[in-house]
Amino acid sequence: MMGLYYKSTRDSRLRVKASEAILKGLAPDGGLFVPEKLPVLDVRMEELKNMSYQETAYAVMKQFLTDFTEEELKDCIARAYDAKFDTEEIAPLAKVDGTYYLELFHGATIAFKDMALSILPHLMTVSAKKNQVENEIVILTATSGDTGKAALAGFADVKGTRIIVFYPKNGVSKVQELQMVTQKGSNVDVAAIRGNFDDAQNGVKAIFEDREFAQELADKGYQLSSANSINIGRLVPQVAYYVYAYAKLLANEEIEDGEEINVAVPTGNFGNILAAYYAKQMGVPIAKLICASNENKVLFDFFETGTYDKNREFVLTSSPSMDILISSNLERLIYLIAGEDSERTKALMAGLKDGGSYGITDDMRQRLADFAAGYATEEETAGCIRSVCEKTGYVMDTHTAVAAHVCGQYRSKSKDTRKCVVASTASPYKFVKSVMTAIDDKYKPEDEFTLLEELRKVSGVDMPQAIRDILNAEVLHTKECDADKMKDIVNGFL
Ligand SMILES: *Cc1c(COP(=O)(O)O)cnc(C)c1O
Repeated sequence: MMGLYYKSTRDSRLRVKASEAILKGLAPDGGLFVPEKLPVLDVRMEELKNMSYQETAYAVMKQFLTDFTEEELKDCIARAYDAKFDTEEIAPLAKVDGTYYLELFHGATIAFKDMALSILPHLMTVSAKKNQVENEIVILTATSGDTGKAALAGFADVKGTRIIVFYPKNGVSKVQELQMVTQKGSNVDVAAIRGNFDDAQNGVKAIFEDREFAQELADKGYQLSSANSINIGRLVPQVAYYVYAYAKLLANEEIEDGEEINVAVPTGNFGNILAAYYAKQMGVPIAKLICASNENKVLFDFFETGTYDKNREFVLTSSPSMDILISSNLERLIYLIAGEDSERTKALMAGLKDGGSYGITDDMRQRLADFAAGYATEEETAGCIRSVCEKTGYVMDTHTAVAAHVCGQYRSKSKDTRKCVVASTASPYKFVKSVMTAIDDKYKPEDEFTLLEELRKVSGVDMPQAIRDILNAEVLHTKECDADKMKDIVNGFL
């Protein structure tokens, strides 16, 4: 097979192998790595239909990571998608009231980030070996709540790596914070930032772009990498579950072979929905990609108007993992609709950095026809959780509810009757306070821990191990800093 190379969205002369792109995370010019050509599936749905999750993941990932041997890739997959997941299906599809919920939260930290972060450390250590990297790899990650814990869990005590996670002090749920600050492992560090997610993410980006600092670290035997969803090693594993979901719909005789479906994704950094878009490019019959935002509806406005403008108030919502105004992965889509023109992409991203906004041309907008967009207010999100629970007994989390609401909104507006898969990105246990108060205002938000038991009664779903783990765990991390002092934390830890 021909090797697939990756180039930067801001400099198409740069050309690296998948393993190098995984090690680097971000391109040296600040751009994102993208495949030179989006691969297509070389296995038919007829065959995929009978495959396990692991086999499907291999069929998808081998098309992207062509410099990994079959043995290496299968080994990474086997280590990632194992008994850490509480179901053999890994990503089960629940049919509720005519909608299909692709449950991506059955991993160690009960959010969809586990789908990629269970495998990223393995992809990274194999990549390091392939490229004769002697340095210790230091993962720097900004998190809106879920990435942090999933990355910590994935990298804890992985040889040759260290990980430092930054999270916004008042921007995550109680459960999310406890999950992070109780993380064990000799190679892990966690710090709270006085600021929001974008501040944390900008801080991490600034450290990555600091060449002098990179040299200082190299002299000490370290090199930086990223576990954020800008890393191609996170994006690629996520493509697999959309292929898997389609194959399962077929296997369950919910659809005919070739029948088009829609996919609704609760969106923040635009990683998950971009993976769905890549799945479509690979040949999965997906018609519309429905991009669902919460009240931080910068993406909705972008799809409506062609202008991306982050100059607006940042809203703290009940779906904190989507409280984001700079959706980093959108750059990969911009690059595609700009006709893979890296100069044009670079100019637009410079506009975002300097003035906080950019506008796209009409011909670029026309290439967005595969996307539909909507948003849910806080009341609509809570209303969706409550009504689905009352009608069916199925309890979803706040992020999933944003997508479920927008999916319904799209259906009634467009009269599009295609079947819809909603990406269900977190367990309701992770956002128990918002979920329970949405279901009934008799539940009082003060005592999150009592609500866990109430959620068990209402949903009939047992408390996941991840929750039982934090109930008695000791707090191990208490660092806090301003967003412009993140470098000091890195220096302190190394
Ligand atoms: C990260 C996250 C999202 C947003 O996903 P993106 O890939 O950043 O768009 C949605 N829901 C949950 C629960 C998440 O953790």
